[in-house]
Amino acid sequence: MRLAVLLLAAVSASAQLDIDSQLADEIARIKAIDNHAHPVRPTFGNDKDTDFDALPVDSMEAYTEPVRTRAGSPLVPEADRALFGATRDVRARKQQLLQEKRESYANWVLDQLGIETMLANRVAMGPGLASPRFLWVPFEDAFMYPLNNGGLAAKNSDRKTFFADEERLLKRYLKECGLAAPPATLDLYLQKVVSPTLERHKRGGAVAVKFEAAYLRPLQFADVPRSEAARIYAGAHSLPAPEADYRRLQDFLLRFIASECGRLGLAVHFHAAAGAGGYFDVAGANPLLLEPLFDDPKLRSVNFAMLHGGWPFTHQLTPLLSKPNAYADFSQQTFVNYPRAVSEVIREWLEYAPEKVLFATDAYPFSDEMGWEEAGWVANSTGRQALGLALTEMMHDGEITRERAVELARMVLRDNARKLYKLN
Ligand SMILES: [Zn+2]
Repeated sequence: MRLAVLLLAAVSASAQLDIDSQLADEIARIKAIDNHAHPVRPTFGNDKDTDFDALPVDSMEAYTEPVRTRAGSPLVPEADRALFGATRDVRARKQQLLQEKRESYANWVLDQLGIETMLANRVAMGPGLASPRFLWVPFEDAFMYPLNNGGLAAKNSDRKTFFADEERLLKRYLKECGLAAPPATLDLYLQKVVSPTLERHKRGGAVAVKFEAAYLRPLQFADVPRSEAARIYAGAHSLPAPEADYRRLQDFLLRFIASECGRLGLAVHFHAAAGAGGYFDVAGANPLLLEPLFDDPKLRSVNFAMLHGGWPFTHQLTPLLSKPNAYADFSQQTFVNYPRAVSEVIREWLEYAPEKVLFATDAYPFSDEMGWEEAGWVANSTGRQALGLALTEMMHDGEITRERAVELARMVLRDNARKLYKLN
């Protein structure tokens, strides 16, 4: 009995295909466009970069980390060997490279990964992260929280930090508009703060905007009349708004921002997947909750990208790709999950709507050991492997030719993003 079980296991293991080697070579050569990442600005002396995320996840209550990203993960030394060579002191080697390359250090990292262009999801850009290698994706959640956030922040310690971060960012945006506090009426808030900031982001080189809303509330945004939103906004300057009313105002603001993005030609990115932390509301991050937004005729010309591909709701996400304005990337899955699991997701999407699938790394500075460089390396190699596995299986099952497999690889790694963001 035991032998039979072992034999069966051996058969099913060998039935899994390895990546077609010719295809793997082609995939390795394609210069990618990375749909979502958090590159760190090269800094010197006492300068420190804190703009790589609006809601940094380094001060959360303890939770059970996925195996691949835990401290001591073998993926980190593997990434370091590939990026920095055989050295005992990775930190010293990084410093040495940083001093050598100076402002071109981040470009050098992209070169090591075969990434031509990285969409940089950051509060602000800065020296060392220049276009065309890095394209800006600023954060807009802060606009949705102009009222008293005490009740929302009190829910748990992670949210307390997040709302403090959002309030700080809104202050920064207000200050950039010459204001110390939100204006008294919604009309003035939209005219004097929200629209001018979005326009400034566009002028600053933004190609898309990002919502981390899933860390703060569910991704269901009702279509709320402006008059109702205006009443809630104005009333709450004397008394804190009840939570249900405040959420209606947030819903209005999200849709207003999305329609402004349509006017300005900016795509709208959502974190749509499970996220970091033990309090993260996984059910509230299901991309199906975004469907009414995609289906709003007023927002049909706005392109939406579901970052991290809705994991673990990747299957439910698939039919959403038939909306003309909906896209998905497989970032984050590529460092949390193994290549085989990611390949199954990619295959399902490629069999359905290959024009809508985007490569991305979510390269993020998780810790001193797992910097954005290492995270980028892990996600880039797992992502290319997963893509290779998916295409090999599709070829093996007679669904596509080798030529089509190469074409699909180019679409996922760069051509789909080039069209979406109108890049050369
Ligand atoms: Zn991210």
